[in-house]
Amino acid sequence: MTVVLHTRAELRAWLDRTRGPRGVVLTMGALHDGHVALMRAARAEVGDAGTVLVTVFVNPTQFGPGEDFTRYPRTLDDDVARCTAAGVDAVFAPDVHEVYPEDEEVPTYDPGPLADDLEGAIRPGHFVGVLTVVARLLRLTEADVTCFGEKDYQQLALVRRLPELEPALAQCRFVGVPIVRDADGLAGSSRNRYLTAEERVQALVIPESVRLVRELCADGIPAAQAERVGRGFLSTSPGVTVDYVVVRSETLGPAPVAGPARVLVAARVGTTRLLDNGPIEIRGVRP
Ligand code: AMP
Repeated sequence: MTVVLHTRAELRAWLDRTRGPRGVVLTMGALHDGHVALMRAARAEVGDAGTVLVTVFVNPTQFGPGEDFTRYPRTLDDDVARCTAAGVDAVFAPDVHEVYPEDEEVPTYDPGPLADDLEGAIRPGHFVGVLTVVARLLRLTEADVTCFGEKDYQQLALVRRLPELEPALAQCRFVGVPIVRDADGLAGSSRNRYLTAEERVQALVIPESVRLVRELCADGIPAAQAERVGRGFLSTSPGVTVDYVVVRSETLGPAPVAGPARVLVAARVGTTRLLDNGPIEIRGVRP
């Protein structure tokens, strides 16, 4: 059975009575198969002698004004059932005051210029909020290893810097897990449940644009041109508003002329913002 913990005191007591390495998966709930892949990856990291803990916390500090904080889906009973089915030992689902007590100063972290790029350019302050809560929850849960999805690729790149920014996390390992997709190709996301049936079909051009850019780069089309074609394809698709289609290095620097890289896409369908990305191999311009 999965133990459900709501307070820091309950968490403390659980930490004190468990042994072995601890794998932690941080989520905002409304769990789907992508989250389950993270739980399985965490179990693979710690083995049967270790423990896996999932946090469910919709962090207010990473939402901007007018974003979907209040309407973000909250489905704790279903989430716990999914965790139980995935063999998770404990769920920590704290109230906001447990994470940010009024009488305690919570350290914030400067994640550097990458935090103001792409998602950070569209959602100012988002990654400061993300790094703050990630550090906070990993410290509270005393994580030895934590698994993050490549679905939020920029987030993964930034949280990997935390062991350098927060000495208390110097020993914590960060593991990336590939994107889990639904049968129709759309990347799994808690926000997919906002989509109407029509929007869901319209949204399928997002993973298609990832594939398109991948194929162009593999065929020797330069990254900048592949980006333009991908953006053009998405922006002429009905119901879709493009935020960005970019090709970057694997660490989100400028795209290499040739070699492994990443394509990242953000677009809105109706009022729902969706992200996607994937690995690509830039073949380089043919002589
Ligand atoms: P969220 O609950 O959306 O904040 O996501 C919690 C964690 O699950 C993050 O590390 C996400 O990157 C990861 N995640 C969300 N969707 C997927 C997916 N489709 N495939 C893999 N990981 C995912």
